[in-house]
Amino acid sequence: MNEKPVSREEIFKELDEFQSLDCKYSDGRILGSMCTEAHPIAKEVFNRFLDSNLGDPGLFKGTKLIEDEVLKMIGSFLSLENPSGHIVTGGTEANIMAIRAARNLAREKGISNGEIIVPQSAHFSFKKAVDMLNLKLVNAELDENYRIDPSSVEDNVNENTVAIVGIAGTTELGMIDPIEELSDIALENDVHLHVDAAFGGFSIPFLKDNHDFPRFDFSLPGVKSITVDPHKMGLAPIPSGGILFRDNTFLDAMSVDSPYLTIKHQSTIVGTRLGASSAATFAVMKYLGKEGYRKFAEESLVKTHFLANELKGLGYDLVVEPNLNIVAFNHPNLKTDDLAVMLEERNWKVSCSVCPKAIRVILMNHIKKDNLIEFISDLKEISESI
Ligand SMILES: *Cc1c(COP(=O)(O)O)cnc(C)c1O
Repeated sequence: MNEKPVSREEIFKELDEFQSLDCKYSDGRILGSMCTEAHPIAKEVFNRFLDSNLGDPGLFKGTKLIEDEVLKMIGSFLSLENPSGHIVTGGTEANIMAIRAARNLAREKGISNGEIIVPQSAHFSFKKAVDMLNLKLVNAELDENYRIDPSSVEDNVNENTVAIVGIAGTTELGMIDPIEELSDIALENDVHLHVDAAFGGFSIPFLKDNHDFPRFDFSLPGVKSITVDPHKMGLAPIPSGGILFRDNTFLDAMSVDSPYLTIKHQSTIVGTRLGASSAATFAVMKYLGKEGYRKFAEESLVKTHFLANELKGLGYDLVVEPNLNIVAFNHPNLKTDDLAVMLEERNWKVSCSVCPKAIRVILMNHIKKDNLIEFISDLKEISESI
């Protein structure tokens, strides 16, 4: 490290050089990300709340009220009036908290070798959760549309099951699991049902009036917790995740004494934590309203269907008809990896799904129709060249 202070100009010059290596959402070439550029009002507010610490909420009483308000607003579109929970760093932390609560409550009932049942399509954060929480991960099978097969869940439930996980908007394909059926199974077996709506939580509720989506929220009595990420479809800055619980018993089950703070107990995994995420999420949610989120969600679906139809016209195969704003596809005469390389050579930042292997495009807000037209023209060239 430097001994003598470096000037602002020098520092910014150096940082500019580093930052010039980063991809920019506004270029419209990032096709494989579930994040997008945060809304301007969210960025402005984030800066204002940079010094707040929700790990010590007695010192930041106002910011703590903002966090509570955000949870209430999210609860209002997930059919829960008074949610318990926190704004956290993202879906990973939210999922770990949900599983930790379920495990601790199961432990009180005498379960010591706990298992969780997740669909094969589950996000890898559950692998981290079981590793940290000393649980066993059991994979439930998928149906032909890559949704969890409830009968496979029933086959796998046993006396050690501490939680069942369903997904509302899978990471790879954007599919919505049949949560209603999982809710019934969870109630019958007295098991915690967690819904991972990290991706879909900020779009499905706003689309459901015009689209035929299955229920996935707290209106289903078996659902005990939901993950929903403001920093994906919510247009909030990173890091903004959300974990909502049906009532306080779940946070209480994770509570530890926090002697030197202004509060006596803490249930979050992290200690010192941002208030800026809550404040920025509050701002963008108020600013857009349900109307704004509906508009963004509908626009992303229009782009999804446009891309899907063009791909079919060019002879590409869709893995599945999209539920949400993700399109996964292959070319019948190309390996996925080879197609990915050809797209990378044309400067497209795509990602591949694993189950099944395919090119995966997430139609986020930063991808405009013009970008898609260019992308489709490159795909046409590729398919004509082989
Ligand atoms: C993105 C995602 C996660 C992980 O969220 P992070 O914010 O990256 O930690 C978890 N579950 C699903 C379904 C996701 O799409």
